[in-house]
Amino acid sequence: MMRAEQPMIPKYQWTCKACGASNDRAITSCSSCNMPAIASSEEVDIARAGGGSAAVYLHRQEWAVGKARWHALPIWKKMLVILAIGLCFLGLLWLKLAVTVVDHMYGGIALLAGVGMLCVTKKIHSAN
Ligand SMILES: [Zn+2]
Repeated sequence: MMRAEQPMIPKYQWTCKACGASNDRAITSCSSCNMPAIASSEEVDIARAGGGSAAVYLHRQEWAVGKARWHALPIWKKMLVILAIGLCFLGLLWLKLAVTVVDHMYGGIALLAGVGMLCVTKKIHSAN
């Protein structure tokens, strides 16, 4: 079930993290640059990189679309993705800790199996 994003309303006067403008309480976006009142450091970086608040809202929209796509996946596809990522990590860990040639082989096989499963999952998802 999807939950609509509720904008958090500041209960105090706040300073915009992107442009430094002072804003009254209960205003959810900057009166100067339209930056959201509640923004992560990553979002501030995005705004300051030149995209401004429009890039921040686009970033949030892309996140929401990605989340909705993940939630729409059937459980077996989610399990496949999680298993594949787990295999990749296991393979990398095995390669990192490997002492013998056989250890390297097992690590490589696990890593390749994980990457292969991710590719297959992506292919299945693209086909639908
Ligand atoms: Zn601002």
